[in-house]
Amino acid sequence: MNKIEHIGIAVKHLKDANTLFEKLFGIPNYKVEEVESEGVNTSFFKVGDTKIELLEATDDDSPIAKFIKKKGEGIHHIAFDVDDIEAEIERLTKEGFTVIHKTPKKGADNKLVAFLHPKSTNGVLIELCQELPLPSK
Ligand code: ZN
Repeated sequence: MNKIEHIGIAVKHLKDANTLFEKLFGIPNYKVEEVESEGVNTSFFKVGDTKIELLEATDDDSPIAKFIKKKGEGIHHIAFDVDDIEAEIERLTKEGFTVIHKTPKKGADNKLVAFLHPKSTNGVLIELCQELPLPSK
């Protein structure tokens, strides 16, 4: 794994959270994106080399809605940048970690992503992400 790519924060209201984090960081977000497959609206900030991803549920079945119901708002996951996500999934599975997505899927911010189950990582939801080449125009 190369570095922390971003930290995901579950929020109830993306608009309000955006305003608050803009004030906190002193910079505007650089992107808002809906990830339909996950039932979330996301907003991204770039703070130095690390990104902060705010996540708001778009429906009650969204993993974010369930997370907030159980634990309230707060840090939801830590994402690590990897060069070869499929090789990492294979390596971590062999090491005994529970990988939720055996096949990486398309996540927010032009990434291939896969999550590790927090049961196998001391309660921390870990996301692996590999940057995709930008689509050629
Ligand atoms: Zn994420």
